[in-house]
Amino acid sequence: MLYIVLGIITTLFAVVGVAMWAFGIRRMVQTIRLGQPAESGRTGPFGRRLTTTLIEVLGHNRMLKRPWVGVAHWFVMVSFPLLVFTVAEAHGEVWDPHFHLPIIHDWTVYGLFIELIAGLGLIAILGLAAYRQIKGPRRLGRDSRFANSVHWTAYYVEAYIVALLVAIFVIRGFKVAMGDFPFPVWATPISHALGEVLPPSEPALALVAAFKLIISWMFFMVLAVVLTMGIGWHRFTAPFNIYFKRDPEGAPALGAAKPMMDATGKKPLDFEEADPDEDPFGVGKVEDFTWKGLLDFTTCTECGRCQSQCPAWNTGKPLSPKKLVTDLRDHAYAKAPYLMQGVTEETPDIHDDVLSLLGKPLVGTEEEGGIIHPDVLWSCTNCGACVEQCPVDIEHIDHIMDMRRYQVMIESSFPSEANTLLKNLENKGNPWGMAEDRRMDWMAELDFDVPVVEDTLPEGTEYLFWVGCAGALEDRAKKTTKAIAELLHMAGVKFAVLGGMEACTGDPARRLGMEYVFQMLAQQNVETLNEAGVTKIVASCPHCFNTLGNEYPQLGGEYDVVHHSQLLAKLVEEGRLTPVQPIEENITYHDPCFLGRHNKVYTPPREIMAQVPGITTKEMHRHKERGFCCGAGGARMWMEERIGKRINTERVDEALTTDPDTVSTACPFCQVMLGDAINEKKSQGEAKESLEVVDVSQLLLRSVKADAAPAQEQAEKA
Ligand code: SF4
Ligand code: SF4
Ligand code: SF4
Repeated sequence: MLYIVLGIITTLFAVVGVAMWAFGIRRMVQTIRLGQPAESGRTGPFGRRLTTTLIEVLGHNRMLKRPWVGVAHWFVMVSFPLLVFTVAEAHGEVWDPHFHLPIIHDWTVYGLFIELIAGLGLIAILGLAAYRQIKGPRRLGRDSRFANSVHWTAYYVEAYIVALLVAIFVIRGFKVAMGDFPFPVWATPISHALGEVLPPSEPALALVAAFKLIISWMFFMVLAVVLTMGIGWHRFTAPFNIYFKRDPEGAPALGAAKPMMDATGKKPLDFEEADPDEDPFGVGKVEDFTWKGLLDFTTCTECGRCQSQCPAWNTGKPLSPKKLVTDLRDHAYAKAPYLMQGVTEETPDIHDDVLSLLGKPLVGTEEEGGIIHPDVLWSCTNCGACVEQCPVDIEHIDHIMDMRRYQVMIESSFPSEANTLLKNLENKGNPWGMAEDRRMDWMAELDFDVPVVEDTLPEGTEYLFWVGCAGALEDRAKKTTKAIAELLHMAGVKFAVLGGMEACTGDPARRLGMEYVFQMLAQQNVETLNEAGVTKIVASCPHCFNTLGNEYPQLGGEYDVVHHSQLLAKLVEEGRLTPVQPIEENITYHDPCFLGRHNKVYTPPREIMAQVPGITTKEMHRHKERGFCCGAGGARMWMEERIGKRINTERVDEALTTDPDTVSTACPFCQVMLGDAINEKKSQGEAKESLEVVDVSQLLLRSVKADAAPAQEQAEKA
């Protein structure tokens, strides 16, 4: 009788569990399909995308950035589908405790396999649960990467997995005690050890099997009810999110900003033809995100890796990329049922709560009932640390930029300081509003002539040197520009500059969300470059380097773009520049985000320093992929930083822990930001007076200068 009751109950749980889960999937898919069309190229090529997905899921390569957590998670991940055999077996055991799976039931390899997966899965989940406690917000507060996570869901998932795995061993133990276990001790030691202490009780075995089935099917029911339980759902949604990521080759969504697309999602938006009533001008409502955006929000596991690396969050600002994603997710799933029924704010007789939900502004203050606070939206530096870290390939920057676009272009709502930036860019083609001819001031201090393009590149020119606004107009950055020009001249590289014809690449406007100004500047530059016949560019600013190389192709500008650190490292390697003068200094290098994380250029600046005799380098704790922003990106350079600690101060505090004589970098904006923070430290007596920030090109020039003449002769002979 007991077995019949258990059999019927567990069968009912299975039927209801599967039905509810299928219904949950249907609702989830319907919610995601409320999103707008994504840009083309998201679905294929199938083979390439499938390979990327398999590598990321089975290889766990993005999880292995924290090795032991990655390995532990891998065992938990594989235990879930592989233990499906034991669930199937339990459905037989509740009816007949001596039940075994057909065919494989006495294969030693099967017994060993389940023992291993369940054993390692159990150790792994206990380790991860302990880690969550040790590193949890109760102990670490805001510094915990689990701050801002929903805790009950995590505890529930952990408890379920532990209970499931323990139940597997207990059932096996009963079978050992009953003398009905076909596997040898060496292959199943835990089961045999339990068999020594458990009684040979058939009803007890059936009860434990029923318990295992009930908690398993309840897990599916809970998932079906709580569609926002990312920590539970991600095992099903993550492979799809990875499959549809921006780059089929597997790179994270960094580098080029996501272009604005027209209403079809297939053509980039052309502002000369764009219609704000038809075409999406960014995202003003949660349903304006693309379906990929909604899939991103659904997939977030709340692991907090993004938050732990975010410079805004780490300096006391309200922006947490995790919270941003989960707030958007919760809002999307709260709103979806009404959107599916076609309910709008205009629908007569709707309940006040529904009206208030539908009327919530996507970006707004607490008083306005906003989902994302403006301080959250405008704190982002676009540094890419979140995107780089996210194990399920969520594309935070794209979503932040889409919301900024709507705020700037439709609502005209953005930090007032950025107004000046936009006016200067529109009227003068540079962020400081300086006259065009000032772009050539830096050349006056050189003892050779720099060829300036008039209409076309001078005969024999190899590189167009893209100076950038900071490099041409900002005093500290001008030193870098001069150093690069001198080094290229010494190495015999034929280069020219655009002089007054160069305009801002448009990066600050684009990252602010003012796509119209970006397109205006970019089209002007592309026209100038194409008319001049430019094919190869060396850029000194990583933001220009990124825009010219990764974004101008979207507008018909295809160039071979290198950063000055890459070209200089190559010239040193080829012997066209020889550093001889020792620089006896301790130097720490700051990775510019748009050079490193966004474009994977980590080695050339380090190679240059390695070639300079006397330099001792010491890495900061956060470097390369985990480098910490200086605070200037995402157009933050032109906004006030009113909340929390200044990001540049945080970075300099970290640099000071290496006791440097010099901080080096390879970005004019980083140079300015870090320089400002160091000056402040000096005024407070917290940094030595001699400490300075220099570009790697300046270090190289200091070391090469003594050997300038021979290098030049060599180049001329070559
Ligand atoms: S891009 Fe950088 S600043 Fe912006 S949310 Fe991500 S980590 Fe934070
Ligand atoms: S890293 Fe990705 S999955 Fe983890 S919390 Fe951030 S957005 Fe969510
Ligand atoms: S200025 Fe430098 S560190 Fe800061 S965002 Fe740009 S590249 Fe990153």
